[in-house]
Amino acid sequence: MSRAFDTNLQFLSGVGPRRALLLQKELGIHTLGDLLSCYPFRYIDRSRFYAIRELHPDLGYVQVRGRFTSMSVQGVGPKKRLTASFTDGVSEIEVVFFQGIKWIQEKMKMGTEYVLFGKVSLFNQSMNMVHPEVEPPQIDTLQGSASMQALYPSTEKLKNNGINQKFFSRLMADALAKSSGQIAETLPPPLIRRFSLLSRSEALTHIHFPANSNLLSKAQQRLKFEELFYIQLDLLKQKALRLSTRQGQCFIKIGAHFDHCYRRLPFELTNAQKRVLKEIRSDTGSGKQMNRLLQGDVGSGKTLVALLSALIAMDNGFQACIMAPTEILAQQHCASISKLTAEGPTTVGLLTGATKRGARKKLLDALSDGTLHLLIGTHALIEEKVQFANLGFVVIDEQHRFGVDQRARLWNKNEAPPHILVMTATPIPRTLAMTLYGDLEVSVIDELPPGRQPIKSLHFNDNQRLRVFHFMKEQIRAGRQVYVVYPLIKESEKMDYKNLEEGYAVIAREFPPPQYRTSVVHGQQKSEDKAFEMKLFVEGKTHIMAATSVIEVGVDVPNASVMVIESAERFGLSQLHQLRGRVGRGAAQSYCIFMTGHKLTKEARQRIELLCATQDGFEIAEADLRLRGPGDLEGVRQSGIAFELKIADLARDGQLLELARNAAAKVLEEDPMLQNPQNALLNTELQRLHQEVADYSRIS
Ligand code: ADP
Ligand code: MG
Repeated sequence: MSRAFDTNLQFLSGVGPRRALLLQKELGIHTLGDLLSCYPFRYIDRSRFYAIRELHPDLGYVQVRGRFTSMSVQGVGPKKRLTASFTDGVSEIEVVFFQGIKWIQEKMKMGTEYVLFGKVSLFNQSMNMVHPEVEPPQIDTLQGSASMQALYPSTEKLKNNGINQKFFSRLMADALAKSSGQIAETLPPPLIRRFSLLSRSEALTHIHFPANSNLLSKAQQRLKFEELFYIQLDLLKQKALRLSTRQGQCFIKIGAHFDHCYRRLPFELTNAQKRVLKEIRSDTGSGKQMNRLLQGDVGSGKTLVALLSALIAMDNGFQACIMAPTEILAQQHCASISKLTAEGPTTVGLLTGATKRGARKKLLDALSDGTLHLLIGTHALIEEKVQFANLGFVVIDEQHRFGVDQRARLWNKNEAPPHILVMTATPIPRTLAMTLYGDLEVSVIDELPPGRQPIKSLHFNDNQRLRVFHFMKEQIRAGRQVYVVYPLIKESEKMDYKNLEEGYAVIAREFPPPQYRTSVVHGQQKSEDKAFEMKLFVEGKTHIMAATSVIEVGVDVPNASVMVIESAERFGLSQLHQLRGRVGRGAAQSYCIFMTGHKLTKEARQRIELLCATQDGFEIAEADLRLRGPGDLEGVRQSGIAFELKIADLARDGQLLELARNAAAKVLEEDPMLQNPQNALLNTELQRLHQEVADYSRIS
């Protein structure tokens, strides 16, 4: 980047050491380059004036034109405030100031026309504006005719030090003037031409001072494209590197292991399962190492696809393993897989923390001499002592519970790394998957096996509990089983247990033994106790399973047809969806009941309404992304996107992301390692972005 971009902010007018430090501390702005890429979060149309009676809090920033009719000071000390009435001739709004009271009293004249610019809020049932910017009617906009005014992120501290929107605007104008003619282009000219993008310099000008909404959107497009393009370029380059350096096992044959199991299947594979199986076959037959993410809603039949793929590995002389996040899940996988492979050539073993010494030794011996074909287990599989004769295929279930380094340890269990299939039931929106797992291939099972009845989802509040109990009893009488789930509070397992305890006391009173029997499962139990309680429920010996959200992952009890989720407002969207997926696995009509308090926040209500309206995991995940943003989605924070997104929005810019990804792929197709001199710019930018991330993580 050019010299000017490294310039310290202090050289801008109005910025002394104090304000420079504040901008640094509050917004991470160190240099002129940082400042120019501090993009506005919104724009308001300053040619539009609202009538006061039109105002409501959802409008955000607005401007109104009118006169002050009265002003008075109340309170003393830090509580001191100035309240004024402001009218546009038709209606009135209250305006409140906590700071600069004296100055306002002296400067503002009653009866003179002003323009107020600020946010409307609702206070004591009436509309008011706190600390609006007050200006005389004809504002001199800095860039002539600009009517779209940019709004910048701000903090209390910044505002108290005079760094308000007006100041920002002046600062940006100065920064643009000082760097005029020196803003270097960061995208190669052919790309700019192909997508008709603005130059970087034009884009920066119009992002801060849009002459009109058309230019603003072109500026946004250009800057978003750049951001997404470099992320994709980085990911795809890493992937190309992996593919070119890592040889993979080549599975060519299909033989007895696969055929035997396939013939025993009591049903047809769904089209989605067939498609994914083909994708995996093509990867594993290519001679390159596969790294594939398999996404599919709970119950979509991922495990079966994984098993069939593993059997192909065995048909080619390799061993396979399936790693599950919990012991119960590993046991369930083992039981269902053993049924499918029974009376055939495939040997299957189960290794968990609970496996006894003698059994363990036999298992490990069979594994190292190659007589054991498929090992199913928990992360006990990663241990040093677990030595395969020839591991060719690894399945990792419920990926978000395993770290990247754990994945790596499995890779190293064979000289040539095995193929890896990571399965997740957390639907990840496509745009997010492309960014988070851009270096993995992604397969999606987007179809449930036929004959599943949709789950009826209902919302009840706490004082309708008796009706819910009544309904549970009806279902139990009809021979069904019921889950009751309590929220798990990560910060306090004790608290979490208390919730369950209280809930359990109510259940015990309402559903007394011997007529009703209840299993209790929570995070503080020893794993044997947990397994014991689970087993009772799985075998149908208990009617109710009262649990914290430990049951979220995987358990499969087709006879359980009712899921009651207590304090549902305290769960996230995806989590609720996962929990609901525990029912609806058998032939009976299933129900999910969301219990909440009477008073709900708007967001909580939206979440529950959405869940009652749809059962489509991807739709829910997209909504989750829109409502909470990518940072809060499960799994996103840990994995971390390579570069911070300053302007692109994964929830909204899906199409642009695809364009950017295709453009990056095309560049790499022609020049995989970016060695071509015409791609030198791309390399420099990638390095700079990596450097920026490194610097940033050092600072914070
Ligand atoms: P997932 O792992 O994706 O949650 P599973 O593989 O556990 O799903 O499958 C859920 C249930 O559906 C299992 O009981 C499985 O036997 C059954 N199943 C899988 N594929 C099919 C299919 N094509 N048709 C009918 N049932 C299927
Ligand atoms: Mg599963």
